[in-house]
Amino acid sequence: MLNGTLTPKKVRPNIDLSLWEKLYIFEVVRGLYITSRHFVIHLFGFIFPPAGKKRSIPTVYYPEEKVTLPEAYRGRPLLVMKEDKTEKCVACGLCEKICPGKAIAISPREKENGDRFPFKFVIDMSRCIFCGFCEEVCPKEAIVMSKEYESLATYNRENMIYNKEMLLRPEKELKARIDYVRRIYSKCNQ
Ligand code: SF4
Ligand code: SF4
Repeated sequence: MLNGTLTPKKVRPNIDLSLWEKLYIFEVVRGLYITSRHFVIHLFGFIFPPAGKKRSIPTVYYPEEKVTLPEAYRGRPLLVMKEDKTEKCVACGLCEKICPGKAIAISPREKENGDRFPFKFVIDMSRCIFCGFCEEVCPKEAIVMSKEYESLATYNRENMIYNKEMLLRPEKELKARIDYVRRIYSKCNQ
């Protein structure tokens, strides 16, 4: 009883099976038919995709076709390179500190004018969990998550260790992500 007036309804099991359902075997055959129909439609849709027609099969034929990734997608982190070909990173170490996978290793140095820069900046992608914390914490918009994922496929873990030169990308290539990051984290660092 609820509030003394309402009687909660009980869920009744479906015991009123039709004769067809009680025979059971027909329901099994019906299930097999539905599964087989989907299998055949997808199989022949894959082998003979309808030319020029809008395909009803949602499967993406990778690698010939690729998924359009949303801006929020977090692929491998990249470093932002300024127009003078130097990194935006000032080697503050915040991303290294916050990284839960301990994937980032930075060796800071100082220029003659006292500016800090990462002499070495390494990300071990075999440890990265694509959390995006490095991007979020960076005060200089110097590291962003990208849409790159294919380069991560490798048979050798050593290939997953990226140094600074491998991580740097021109700022204009990463502009869409930087704009997105500004929007979601309300950053105004330049
Ligand atoms: S995405 Fe997360 S785990 Fe990967 S390098 Fe950045 S902070 Fe570390
Ligand atoms: S948080 Fe940004 S500026 Fe600081 S070390 Fe990492 S990438 Fe460089």
